[in-house]
Amino acid sequence: MHAPENLLADCGSCFGLCCVALPFARSSDFAVDKAAGEPCRNLLEDSRCGIHSTLRKKGFPGCTVYDCFGAGQKVSRSMFEGRDWRQQPSNSSEMFAVFPIMRDVHELLWYLADARDRTSTAPLHNRIDREYDELDALTSATPEIVMSVDVSALRARVNDVLLDASDLVRADVAGKKKNYRGRDMIGAKLAGADLRGASLRGTYLIGADLRGADLRLADVIGADLRGADLRGADLRGSIFATQFQINAARGDRATQLPESLTRPSHWA
Ligand code: SF4
Repeated sequence: MHAPENLLADCGSCFGLCCVALPFARSSDFAVDKAAGEPCRNLLEDSRCGIHSTLRKKGFPGCTVYDCFGAGQKVSRSMFEGRDWRQQPSNSSEMFAVFPIMRDVHELLWYLADARDRTSTAPLHNRIDREYDELDALTSATPEIVMSVDVSALRARVNDVLLDASDLVRADVAGKKKNYRGRDMIGAKLAGADLRGASLRGTYLIGADLRGADLRLADVIGADLRGADLRGADLRGSIFATQFQINAARGDRATQLPESLTRPSHWA
């Protein structure tokens, strides 16, 4: 799909919300513990990261993986009309509470945009448009309304149409498709596997060897690809792939990505 601009993170238009609003636990992803609402010690006054070019080296690889789907600039520039939490501390708790919910809503919009951008889902386009428009309107609502959203219920509702879209997209692959939905495949050896049109919904593929695997038109929504080896894999046309998943995986110049995603700078 062609990624909608409003769903792409624009860190320069955000007040560093992911670096303040979210909690971190000290781990291989983050070198320090940090509570929700506490500014990261590396965050500069102008909302840039003070260690941006050395994040991985300094023990913050999690920051190179995270993607807000454009929620940061939406909250900073649109909802709070460019009022920085530093200048208006009275807004800060509301801003920090609304940001993760906005991120979840933007993520759902990303999936709906992907489903809508395919010709095989034409029978569903009206239904997808209705869901998209309703969620899009929600992103322009007041902080109180956004904070009252039941994200789990929203995900379940949107998932109905996403599942139908997935079936239509994957039907373009002839023959029996593999179904690994929700399976624990941590560290699985799948190098060179034919996974065209497979369901990898919510599959745990942490550290899996997917070198050279064919994932065209596979449904990868919610698949955990942390540390998965995608070198030489083909993900063109895979449905519901996100930048977050790709950033968390390993890959190289031979990895073929869906056109909406970009090759992470930390890949070889
Ligand atoms: S290390 Fe940089 S990118 Fe990561 S949370 Fe801190 S300021 Fe943000």
